[in-house]
Amino acid sequence: MEERKKAIVTGGSRGIGRAVAVELAVCGYDVDITYRANDEAAAETLRLISAAGGGGEALKFDVADAAEAEARLNELLSRRERIDALINNAGITADGLFLMMPRTDWDAVLDTTLSGFYNMTKPVLRKMLRKKSGAIVSLASVSALVGNRGQANYAAAKAGLIAASRVLAAETARLGIRVNVVAPGPIETEMIKDFPREHVKQLIPMGRVGRPEEVAKVVRFLCSDDASYVTGQVISVNGGMV
Ligand code: NDP
Repeated sequence: MEERKKAIVTGGSRGIGRAVAVELAVCGYDVDITYRANDEAAAETLRLISAAGGGGEALKFDVADAAEAEARLNELLSRRERIDALINNAGITADGLFLMMPRTDWDAVLDTTLSGFYNMTKPVLRKMLRKKSGAIVSLASVSALVGNRGQANYAAAKAGLIAASRVLAAETARLGIRVNVVAPGPIETEMIKDFPREHVKQLIPMGRVGRPEEVAKVVRFLCSDDASYVTGQVISVNGGMV
């Protein structure tokens, strides 16, 4: 029997991260997830991974905390023979007009997205390089591509994620690693509970927000051998919005 592939999904307890974890499990991966606070949600994702035939663990730590991330991740990696896919999905919003935006909200969003990318990607990339094989997919947003009012912190963080991913793709393209970004439009999760629904038909040509599973399928494609010549790309999943 073919050995299951191994993936790590940050922010895998809920929303898009959970959908990605389950999609990968269905497609033959064992999936370790990380999360920050919601124990019950993380346990439910593990249950769904298991129901899909996969194994995996849930690790509770803040991806922005360099020391904690390094310690927890290195411990996990010491027990994993290989990592085939890393999904940098953990993210937060703290919206507000730029002039009103407290420094703490600026820092929190950039730290979670960009320091999170750094803290998670470096150790996992080292592991992938030993096998000269691996796929890294990070979740940006259409906010990085258009100027959404009230999202200077979020847009800057997601645009930074895109730029860092393109550089990493160029640096690792000859070493067997592929690095790509998925940039969703509004997707039905807790993150957009306050999104003004009356604007949906106006903003999104398809006239509806997306489902987490619709993002997960694109992430799964980018992780798979079907995407063997795809690296350094940003794929937007947005109902035609951008
Ligand atoms: P949710 O708010 O539903 O879930 C966020 C997940 O990230 C949770 O698992 C949460 O853990 C985890 N998380 C948040 N901060 C940290 C942290 N500092 N350390 C570790 N884990 C953390 O978000 P979505 O599923 O909606 O979004 C997933 C990704 O997709 C994000 O990067 C987001 O920016 C991006 N995205 C989302 C869109 C949308 O419309 N929903 C649109 C475009 C992009 P816990 O459960 O413990 O809180």
